[in-house]
Amino acid sequence: MITNRNKYFWTTLITFLVISCSSLHANWQTVSYKGKKYISLQQIKTSFGFTNYKISGSSHTLTKKGLSLQLNSGSQKCILNTVKFEFSYPAVKRGTSLLVSETDVNKIITPVLRPTIIKNAKSFRTVVIDPGHGGKDAGAVNRYGTEAGYNLKVGLKLKKLLTAQGFNVVMTRENNTYLSLQQRVSLANRYGNAIFISIHFNASSRTAARGLETFTLSPVGVAHYGRGVKSSDYRVLNGNHQDSANIALATAIHGRMLERTRSVKVPDRGIKRARFSVLTKIKHPAILIEGGFMSNPTEAILIEKKIYQNTVATAICEGVIRYRKALNASSSSARKSTKPERLDY
Ligand SMILES: [Zn+2]
Repeated sequence: MITNRNKYFWTTLITFLVISCSSLHANWQTVSYKGKKYISLQQIKTSFGFTNYKISGSSHTLTKKGLSLQLNSGSQKCILNTVKFEFSYPAVKRGTSLLVSETDVNKIITPVLRPTIIKNAKSFRTVVIDPGHGGKDAGAVNRYGTEAGYNLKVGLKLKKLLTAQGFNVVMTRENNTYLSLQQRVSLANRYGNAIFISIHFNASSRTAARGLETFTLSPVGVAHYGRGVKSSDYRVLNGNHQDSANIALATAIHGRMLERTRSVKVPDRGIKRARFSVLTKIKHPAILIEGGFMSNPTEAILIEKKIYQNTVATAICEGVIRYRKALNASSSSARKSTKPERLDY
């Protein structure tokens, strides 16, 4: 079920995500805090045209028609309507202001809400599906099966769905064989004008851990999820040329997965930034999906079910279509006008 509110949200978010707006380059007034630059939420409200600002305890929410942005002081979580993003730094309360790091404004909020354009974004026809692990590398293992096996089942189902939609589909593996991460990337990079989707399921020693998460490459200067920033994080990697497209692809697919799995109550762990090898060396827009936790008793049963595997594959396929529509709307709209068009899903 997609509610009208959600539908409007998607039309707004994805359109803004890809359309070349006649951008107002914000002249942010920054505040220094512990050696980093921060921007007040009040400025973000004004710059992005939010009409309301509500504070309730530590929660700060900006809203305008069809769109809300919610933050908590001291937290790295940012929720844009239904989609959770993991910030690089916690929002900080200073006096009456809530401050957001300049990095998060530049690398998440701005590309999601007002990109000038997704650099290099072209209409694509090829989707490279990468079922993670395989062969001697089983990935996570539980009493029902192996991650390598589940990744492949979802990947093969996704191949069928995307092929039926007219996409050219390339699989990094179609059976239980081993490939190194470099082999997966080399294979994908042989194709021009493609997107890359790596499929995984999660595991944790904490069996309570559960939910969906989607990773995209950390932009330059942004830490790998859960680690502090290192000097090497300032190197520009192959995948960084797709920073805007990466977050657009992640938002389209992760958002669709949340909608599709809502009825079985799989929690949202958010869109996160990481420097996994397959994401750093790839030249295409790329994401890595973790479709649930094999180590969680409830999700282990779910993941074993064919209906859930099909749901994940269907959601990814629909997310790919959503992303493609947004790109097409972006290029046709950019030709005609600088105003965003409404998209209907
Ligand atoms: Zn894995």
